[in-house]
Amino acid sequence: MSSIYSLDALKFDNSFYNKLPADPVINNNSRLVNAACYSKVAPMPFPKASLVAFSRDMALELGLNPTECMTQRFTEIFSGTHPLSGMQPFATCYGGHQFGNWAGQLGDGRAINLGEIINKKGQRWALQLKGSGPTPYSRHADGFAVLRSSVREFLCSEAMHYLRVPTTRALSLLTTGTQVERDMFYDGHSKMEPGAIVCRAAPSFIRFGNFELFTSRNQIDITKQLVDYTIEYFFPHLGKPSKEVYLQWFNEICLSTARLITEWMRVGFVHGVMNTDNMSILGLTIDYGPYGWLEDYDPAWTPNTTDAGGRRYAYGKQAEIAQWNLLQLANAIYPLIEDSTALESALENYKKVYDIAWRDMMTSKLGLLNFEHESDEILFQDLVRNLKNTETDMTLFFRHLSNIEINKDANTDDLLPLIQPAFYAKEIEPDAANDIKTWLLQYLKRLKKDDRPDAVRRQQMNAVNPLYVLRNYLAQEAIEQAEAGSYSMIHELQEVLKNPYEEQAGKERYAEKRPDWAKHKAGASMLSCSS
Ligand code: AMP
Ligand code: MG
Repeated sequence: MSSIYSLDALKFDNSFYNKLPADPVINNNSRLVNAACYSKVAPMPFPKASLVAFSRDMALELGLNPTECMTQRFTEIFSGTHPLSGMQPFATCYGGHQFGNWAGQLGDGRAINLGEIINKKGQRWALQLKGSGPTPYSRHADGFAVLRSSVREFLCSEAMHYLRVPTTRALSLLTTGTQVERDMFYDGHSKMEPGAIVCRAAPSFIRFGNFELFTSRNQIDITKQLVDYTIEYFFPHLGKPSKEVYLQWFNEICLSTARLITEWMRVGFVHGVMNTDNMSILGLTIDYGPYGWLEDYDPAWTPNTTDAGGRRYAYGKQAEIAQWNLLQLANAIYPLIEDSTALESALENYKKVYDIAWRDMMTSKLGLLNFEHESDEILFQDLVRNLKNTETDMTLFFRHLSNIEINKDANTDDLLPLIQPAFYAKEIEPDAANDIKTWLLQYLKRLKKDDRPDAVRRQQMNAVNPLYVLRNYLAQEAIEQAEAGSYSMIHELQEVLKNPYEEQAGKERYAEKRPDWAKHKAGASMLSCSS
């Protein structure tokens, strides 16, 4: 007899599949798909697939006993080899603006949706395999994913969840037992790499690009169907569709996107490819490709080599680009609303909300009670200037800053050593050092005004300033070990990143700043879209 926590007890309710128009053609040849939200396509079987890692918490969230994930049957299901009864595999049709230009039809080129599970709490979780073979949307590519990019997506999406950043999740990471050819830097040096599949989970994987595609083809009836579906299933509190409801819906998307970017900025995450096809309608971080974590605080930094020229998707540009992406979504749903003034004011409101959220986020990162206009605006600006001028590790800076003590008599020479571990250079230029000392004194003065106990402030700061993030070089080390057949570092990182705000004895190595060797290493500081 199977338990209620077994694979066979998973309950499917495939709303996307059942409610939206399907492509009548059933084959996985690359092609333009007209007037359909998705195409039915079976994942490719991988009889030699094997489990690398799974997320216990994600399994529990789905209502699965984690021991089920260690069975051969689990591997067969989540490698796409033997889908479970109740699964109805399909790839969705979407378009998108890539690097600022309309790219036409894109779609799930290497993602295959399995269906939606309703868990014991009544929550909907769509499951999707990434890397399980060609679909009608694969264009000129193969539909596979390699181990290196799959490790990065698996580890980072779960880590983001524990950092409290809205994100898609990951249930499992498997190798396919086959090799995939990749030219990592598009420079004519291709090599064979192990293939892998991540099973991702989210309430929905709908992107801005899903709506854009149908409007670009003047199929407004399908845009409307998709909007109505999205509201019914994911924004039910908005009620029955009407122009007012569509507008309110857009406003909510603006707010959740503002929150998402604020959270990225808080933890130092750079998405790297904020194309509109990589923007979730639910305000989740989606599509972990050439993302990176800020090491030295540099707003112009982008991990994506494809973006090195324009730096469109640099850390400091993310809020502005999100607004540009929201504008593309506004254009896509305009025919349903026909009120450009209202849509423009929602976009302006996004900016206002983001600015306030960023300010509040900085207030909490610095452990201040409230934002005070006269003093704090300047305090933040001066801090950003200092962090930029001196190569400073963002993550370590905020952790060490929390150790400042307000009742100790402020001697500038005592203050600087507090944050010294966050600097990349051993010696700091005298002018820069003076600038930082002045800032530290200003900051101390500001803390004295709040006059809170050090321990209370420190606790508050450490709850928003993570100690452990998936540093680019750590992910790269785990990948190299995995490619050599050892998965223990993946498992250890998984555990450490579950408690990113708490100091963990014996795990100091995961909180260290980037070593010199990693500064210009492929994979650790430079990434391409190739995955
Ligand atoms: P991304 O840059 O990962 O957001 O992908 C952009 C588009 O390219 C999406 O439509 C992907 O499905 C597609 N794509 C990326 N890599 C592959 C691949 N290996 N095979 C098929 N399609 C891909
Ligand atoms: Mg994508």
